[in-house]
Amino acid sequence: MIIGGIADRFVRGVETVQDGINETLFEPVIRVGITGLSRAGKTVFITSLVANLLDRGRMPQLGSSSAITAAYLQPQPDDTVPRFDYETHLAALTAPEPHWPESTRAVSELRLSFKAQPTGMMGLFSGPRTIHLDILDYPGEWLLDLGLMEKTYAQWSEAAIKAAKSREQSADFLTALEAADPLQKYSESAAKSLSDSFTTYLKAAREAGYSDCSPGRFLLPGELEGSPVLTFAPLPPNEAQRGSLGREFERRFDAYKREVVKPFFRDHFSKIDRQVVLVDALGAIHAGPKAVEDLRSTLSDILSAFRPGRVGRLLAILGQRRVDRVLFAASKADHIHHSQHPRLTAIMEALVRDAKDRADFAGAGTKAMSIAALRATVEETIEHNGTELDCVRGRTVEGKNAAFYPGELPEDPSHILAPARKGATEWLDGDYEIMRFEPARLTLKPGEGPPHIRLDRAAEFLIGDKL
Ligand code: GDP
Repeated sequence: MIIGGIADRFVRGVETVQDGINETLFEPVIRVGITGLSRAGKTVFITSLVANLLDRGRMPQLGSSSAITAAYLQPQPDDTVPRFDYETHLAALTAPEPHWPESTRAVSELRLSFKAQPTGMMGLFSGPRTIHLDILDYPGEWLLDLGLMEKTYAQWSEAAIKAAKSREQSADFLTALEAADPLQKYSESAAKSLSDSFTTYLKAAREAGYSDCSPGRFLLPGELEGSPVLTFAPLPPNEAQRGSLGREFERRFDAYKREVVKPFFRDHFSKIDRQVVLVDALGAIHAGPKAVEDLRSTLSDILSAFRPGRVGRLLAILGQRRVDRVLFAASKADHIHHSQHPRLTAIMEALVRDAKDRADFAGAGTKAMSIAALRATVEETIEHNGTELDCVRGRTVEGKNAAFYPGELPEDPSHILAPARKGATEWLDGDYEIMRFEPARLTLKPGEGPPHIRLDRAAEFLIGDKL
């Protein structure tokens, strides 16, 4: 075990040195991670970003785009990671009857390469350089699992049961928990029944807008569905002995950390240079103050994963890279009129500032933004009872073309954050509605990617300096 560990680290060390030499001398690689909780917009973001980097007509704010002489997709470096299915997702968005692509369920990767002509003095002496952009898509739910690495089963159980008690979706699970006896002899049917009830509650809590619903694989199990490593649940404090349900759950929790969480961080997360965290802030605001409060604490958990040395210390990985930029992007900003975008950004900025304070974070540069990876609406001002309402118009799920007024976000973000923090159960000032729009039918001119909002600014923050 120890020898294996040392050998593993040695190989990784050599690989890292090799990577480093290749990168600095020949063809630099930027590895950008894209994460966010499920339905935050990762798949749409990556698809539109890649399409807009291949055809840069709609990317004026990507300052260095003029330096790019060519962009093309290439085979990715990791043969065992599924490829991000860019072509299928783009076909969904650009079909004659466009529809949203299938969402992220697990980790995937895509390599986009650029030829760029250095500008300034450098450009006089050298020809075009090749730069690789490796995009890694992974569920934010898995990222939150990092918090489990530091917890024992008893500590995690206490926190998980406390969270469950504060959420109404947990009623059935809490009843099942009451009836369970940690000291009883382990039986797979009892284990499965309690674990199923816990999973059902976690999924319902996630649906209701709660962000922190770990263990992440209970929501997005991938190939581990139904395996013992996902068949456990929290239990109240107990003195369970060998062969009991309590002891078996503890063993499985430890296996989850060792066999599921740790390899993900070692194999994928630790190689990321820059990170995008997509946040469905409008969705959380619509779901109400409790969901916003939960999002607030989840963002600090996410940010703490990027604290320099955190993963390295936990996993003792040699040569772990350091994430030097983290972009927090409020997605789907096309749901609101642009006059409200500064307010959404201010809310996002306040959430990130708070997360930075709470996570004691002084590492990477962070930025908050409001974006829409794929703009599905147009704007319209409508007169209603003598007042002008700034609306958005788009294709509804029923296929109708409808204008929609989502309500007005407050100018001061504290009007959202303060009631959430104080435990309010509903907004006093107003309602924030959300409507699901289908993607608009597109006619793209040559050289243009799909329409978006601020995707070029996001790209500039992420890779502009490297081009
Ligand atoms: P993932 O689970 O993070 O991969 O999320 P997806 O990228 O699949 O997005 C989830 C859903 O959010 C989509 O099916 C769309 O309904 C919606 N969505 C994502 N991005 C946008 C956007 O830019 N504009 C609009 N209007 N909706 C979006």
